[in-house]
Order: sequence, then C-alpha cells, then structure tokens
Amino acid sequence: MKTYPNFVQRLYDAAARRRKVFPAYTCRASEIGGDCIRQMAYGILHPELAVLHSVDLQLIFDEGNLHEEDVKIKLAMAGVYIHEQQRALSWKTDTFHITGHVDGVFPLEEGERVVAVPLEIKSMSEHIWNSIFFRGPAVYAWDEVKGGFQTKPWLRKYFGQISCYIKQKDTDRGVFLCKNKTTGAIGQVNVERDEAYLGQLVSVAEELTRYIRREELPPKIAFDPDVCGRCRFADSCVPDQIAEPVAYTAEPVIVGWAEQRWQNADARKLYEEADKKLKAWAKANDWIKFQVPGWFFEKKKHGKGIRVDIKPAAGGMETLEKAEQATRWNDEKNKDDDSAAS
Ligand code: SF4
Repeated sequence: MKTYPNFVQRLYDAAARRRKVFPAYTCRASEIGGDCIRQMAYGILHPELAVLHSVDLQLIFDEGNLHEEDVKIKLAMAGVYIHEQQRALSWKTDTFHITGHVDGVFPLEEGERVVAVPLEIKSMSEHIWNSIFFRGPAVYAWDEVKGGFQTKPWLRKYFGQISCYIKQKDTDRGVFLCKNKTTGAIGQVNVERDEAYLGQLVSVAEELTRYIRREELPPKIAFDPDVCGRCRFADSCVPDQIAEPVAYTAEPVIVGWAEQRWQNADARKLYEEADKKLKAWAKANDWIKFQVPGWFFEKKKHGKGIRVDIKPAAGGMETLEKAEQATRWNDEKNKDDDSAAS
C-alpha cells in the first residue's frame, strides 16, 4: 500500500501552534474604539484568562496578514512607498497611555511642509466589502461608509484605531485601504481628524486606566452574542451565558454565509414566482425547444407530466456566476417538482 504524508494535518497543527495570547500593558489603539471596556481591562489585568481562538480563526487571521502584505507589495509596484511600517506609536498623558503599531505612513505635500499620513490596510470578506463599498473600487469619504463600519464589532474598532494614529502622528487625516479577499478589489477611505471623537476615546482610556490602577474590572455590558460571543474572556466573565445548552459560533465565514442566505431570500422567492409563471406558459404552448432573448427552453416528457428546462442561452447572462446560479436553481426546482409529482 502506498503511503502519503498528511499535509492538511501538519498545516492545521502548525496553525494551532501559531495561536497566541499577548498580554496588554496599555490601552491598545486597535481596541479602544471597541464595545466593552471590561474586555480591554481583562486583557491588561487577567490575560491568563483569555481562551485561545479556534484554528479556523487563526487561518483567517493568517489570510488577513497575507492580503495586507499583498497590498503593500502592490503599492510598491505602483510606485507608492509606505514608510514607518509597523512603527510603534504612543499617546501618553498622566491619566492614560494608548499604544499601537501603524501599518505605515505616506508623505503628503501640504503647502510648504510635508506631512506623514497614517495608512491602515484591512482585508475583508467579499460579503462585508460589498456591503461597505457600494460604488465598487473607488475613493470614499469616511462619512459615506461609516455606517458600513458599524455593522460588526471588529469593524467598529477601526475608526478608533486610525483616529489614535492620526493624533499620534499629529496630522489631520488618515487613509484606510480595504481589500476584498475574494476579488482583490480595493476601496480607499479618507478619514479626517475628528476632535470630538478623540475626546470620547480619551474618556474611555481614562476610565479604563482608573480601573486598571485600582486593579478592578469595569462592569459587564448587557450580554450581546455578537460582542460577548467573540470575547476571549467570556468563559470567565459570563459563564452562565456560555454554559447555555445552545451551541454558538461567531466564525466570520459562517456568519457571512448566514447573512448572504438571508439577503438572497427575497431574490429566491421572486425567482420562484417567475419560474412558475414561465413554466406554466411554456407547458401551455406547442413548442418543444425554443428561445426568448437570452434564454433557451426545452420541454421533456417526465413520467406522466412535462418538465421544462430553462437554461441561459449563449451570451445571454451578464456573468458566468449568475448564469450558473440560474442553472442551479432551475435544476433544483425541477428536482423539487419531480419529487412532488412522484
Ligand atoms: S463577555 Fe461580554 S461583558 Fe464580558 S468582557 Fe467580554 S464583551 Fe465584556
């Protein structure tokens, strides 16, 4: 018997070993805009209570890192050079300390002086990218897309993160470059310094620091499956909720599929209504094989009845993906009709 190495197992074992919990010593720029100050305090006071994330999530993080490096490479190929990559930044006062690592800065001439503008690179699933970048690959102002950045707990942290870097670089603007992980499409978001929001971040950081200095955890937020379900301290913080017999996962891929399914529910319903009308019409006429613009019809005897196949005619659909979906739904519908008839 021939033997083969199990590369999948080796890769997953290696991914499992890459999972780490890093203790925090200061308020993190990447966290300060988050939903739960208690979660931030846990990371500083009790990092040992953090539960390791799943291997699947580690693989998603790895993908994110690869995509971010890819954007940097493509920027360099386009002649755009990013400086101070992963440079540590610090915003420290007597009452708080926020630290972070900016993805990079780029120089921008402004009158007589050159300013260093922070650049953050983010990669996103196709579903999330499409929900934010409604005009496709283009340059957006923050106000145009800020609603899209409110829909997920991790997206809500991004504005806080870049705002800290804008403040730390003592400039008045920053830029996000967001890559669609499936298509490679890029959306640019121009962010302006927002003093009122910086004031809110300072209040959060000061409150967090007061708790840390007293070695005390802030109160819990009201249980939110979207936030607490992703929290690495949930086992310690809300064991009663976590011990619920209902299994729960917040894996982004699974959540994306569930949302995609829901968003297409109406489309499927409309498809079925039109499918029913078209097939009734096709059965009522005398033609066996015929075409309407973009669509090919064929009637076939099936048991005691007639079955109608409707397939995209060559060149009749905007995209291959759409044509494949229409064919898939047609085949599924015919299968359903067959089993209802038998
Ligand atoms: S489980 Fe919920 S309340 Fe507790 S720290 Fe995490 S996010 Fe905050």
